[in-house]
Amino acid sequence: MSRRIVVKVGSNVLTRPDGMPNATNMSALVDQISALRALGHEIVLVSSGAVACGRGAVSPRHQLDSVAARQLYSSVGQIRLINLYSNLFAGYGIVIGQVLTQKENFSSRTAYLNQRACMLTMLDNGVIPVVNENDTVSLTELMFTDNDELSGMIASMVDADTLVILSNVDGIYTGSPDDPASRLIRRVESGRDLSEYVASTKSGFGRGGMGSKCGTAGKVASEGITVIIARGDRKDVLLDVIEHPDRAPHTLFEPTAAPLSTVKRWIAHSTSFAKGTITVDARAAEILRSDRAVSLLPVGVTAVEGEWEEGDIIAVDGPDGERIAIGRAATDSREASASAGRHGCRPLVHYDYLYLE
Ligand code: GLU
Repeated sequence: MSRRIVVKVGSNVLTRPDGMPNATNMSALVDQISALRALGHEIVLVSSGAVACGRGAVSPRHQLDSVAARQLYSSVGQIRLINLYSNLFAGYGIVIGQVLTQKENFSSRTAYLNQRACMLTMLDNGVIPVVNENDTVSLTELMFTDNDELSGMIASMVDADTLVILSNVDGIYTGSPDDPASRLIRRVESGRDLSEYVASTKSGFGRGGMGSKCGTAGKVASEGITVIIARGDRKDVLLDVIEHPDRAPHTLFEPTAAPLSTVKRWIAHSTSFAKGTITVDARAAEILRSDRAVSLLPVGVTAVEGEWEEGDIIAVDGPDGERIAIGRAATDSREASASAGRHGCRPLVHYDYLYLE
């Protein structure tokens, strides 16, 4: 069965410690992606490594702060990476296209659909999108947490069947991967909490770590997309996890049985764009969390904070400040304040636009 697969590859797989592209790993990756394409799969590649690759190419004249260093290195490293990809894929007659994006492109529904249309047109025309954050212009306070988060948003955006995150370990372990007593967790059922196993530390060049991978994987699986975490420099790993899963160690996050609609997927990844917060009482929190298809009504609302227009993203918190949901507002904040606590008013967030955390 042909699938749409988003493949995310981390800096530690793509670059060498001296800041040069790891041509061996990149070439192996391109071989496998080409083989998957030949089997009928569609691929989107989310590739890190721009900053790490830039380090080997330019020596700053003065000490740089972290923002300037990221901008300088990524500007140089991104071309090196994309050139190498382009040449390697050309060997298979495959055309690639570069997509440099920013978190802002996910912030409004219009910008989101525009970015989505671009990616779908590329796929439709047989072009492999090679995606990275535009690190030259991203503002620190509005960056993707890391490319794990970006890959989850892209997988969601293009309605992928599978997201494969290639890292420098075989998957999620019950302890430190270096400890012989640790076991690889092979399957993660939908909704299972892995926080007890995942250290918040990260290793090597990239910004991500296992905690971030787990967070992205759990969220994306809860939207209906299978997520696989595997070791990127293992021979034929990508081909194996897709075509012969018994051959390569990996962790697979099972997708939920009830996939989300496209619009709810967008909302699910929009927490950082929330313009305001609605707080509800315990009764309303319980109703929202039940399995019933309910909209957010003003009657249980105890507080309204922030200013927003109809269509903006807002957060919904419970009485103790715990996040319950993210939604697309059906009214502006003035109407929400005016109707808070009252019966018989129209919903503040319709069920179809309400994503439960
Ligand atoms: N966008 C960064 C780069 O290409 C990688 C971010 C990450 O490590 O997740 O260098």
